[in-house]
Amino acid sequence: MKEQIIQQAESKLMHTYNRFPMVLDRGEGMYLYETDGTKYLDFGSGIGVYALGYGNKEYNDALKAQIDKLLHTSNLFYNEPAAKAAKAVCEATGMDRVFFTNSGAEAVEGAIKVARKHYYNTKGNNNSTIIAMNHSFHGRTLGAVAVTGKPAYREPFEPLIGGVKFAEYNDLASVEALFDDTTAAVIMETLQGEGGIFPATPEFIQGVRKLCDEHGALLILDEIQCGMGRSGKMFTYQSYGVTPDVVTLAKALGCGVPVGAFAARGAAADALVAGDHGSTYGGNPFVCNAAATVFDIFAKNDVLGHVNEVAPYLWETLEKIKDEFDCVIDHRGIGLMQGLQFNAAPGEVVKAAMKHGVILIAAASDTVRFLPPLIVEKKHIDEMAEALRAAIKETLGV
Ligand SMILES: *Cc1c(COP(=O)(O)O)cnc(C)c1O
Repeated sequence: MKEQIIQQAESKLMHTYNRFPMVLDRGEGMYLYETDGTKYLDFGSGIGVYALGYGNKEYNDALKAQIDKLLHTSNLFYNEPAAKAAKAVCEATGMDRVFFTNSGAEAVEGAIKVARKHYYNTKGNNNSTIIAMNHSFHGRTLGAVAVTGKPAYREPFEPLIGGVKFAEYNDLASVEALFDDTTAAVIMETLQGEGGIFPATPEFIQGVRKLCDEHGALLILDEIQCGMGRSGKMFTYQSYGVTPDVVTLAKALGCGVPVGAFAARGAAADALVAGDHGSTYGGNPFVCNAAATVFDIFAKNDVLGHVNEVAPYLWETLEKIKDEFDCVIDHRGIGLMQGLQFNAAPGEVVKAAMKHGVILIAAASDTVRFLPPLIVEKKHIDEMAEALRAAIKETLGV
């Protein structure tokens, strides 16, 4: 049955992913199960989505109740879950207004439109440019890919949107060198995810904030992966004392349902007006009810307190593993978003860990990412570490 499902999927889905030969069927807490019952401890959360773990009753009940009421309204009308979720996002991010999208890439698209419109409103022309970062990741739509710092993701699809220049992450001089009168915005992740788990240095992010202020440019922080409590703050920029003008969210915002958002403050929050942007599904009551419920559960269960309690244990555990194995050359990250860099491609380590019952995911070409559901406990970290040690011994050696 499993082989049949894989074969059918391979014959009919586009080959845009090299998937692991696993057919996931259900989840419970920190664990995922295949159709054949094989059990895995999950340290990937569906790429940082399932922050509350699998089968959170309050979350599931809220979604089921909303299904029976109303799934969709279009944005020609108001709905209560969207109003609630908008208030929650603005309070948590420090932004004034939000637009709900269906994915992270769409949130990035919206942020770019805010930057261009804001520039157009203030400068009276549309010659704007955007500064983005090498090794960044912002999604796969044409606008998002245009600001993604990985040439292989861009080149086959050019011409993309123009006016994007790339600086080096954590190199303030490289950003400063690109600033001029046309700079509408700087876009970057507060903590680079796909690019290999690189946190911003305080000097860098604070310096970029200052450059944006001096030039009247917007700072767009992409918190799609590192936001929603993963760093131990609700948003990672909150630990740097920096507030962006625009922030993008997705992944754990819905904890499983497809919902993203871009939120903005000040003049940027009013840059887009009727006719400038829209989405048929965006902000529908089903996904917004999920997002509003996620914020409620975060507060009720003190998810941030829990992250701050267990994240240091993940850090210590991975530090030990780094010290034990010569093939592990670096350990980076914040909160429950950490990475181990290897001196070789980590694909075999990831596959071996799966054989030992633990799901890990790679980042960049040489890093293993640790993105567990935020409900992870010390015992799960121990269980993961045991599998990881075995996986490293079997593949890259001692
Ligand atoms: C995943 C991700 C995106 C893209 O989100 P999608 O929902 O896949 O479109 C954008 N930015 C960052 C930082 C991400 O991690």
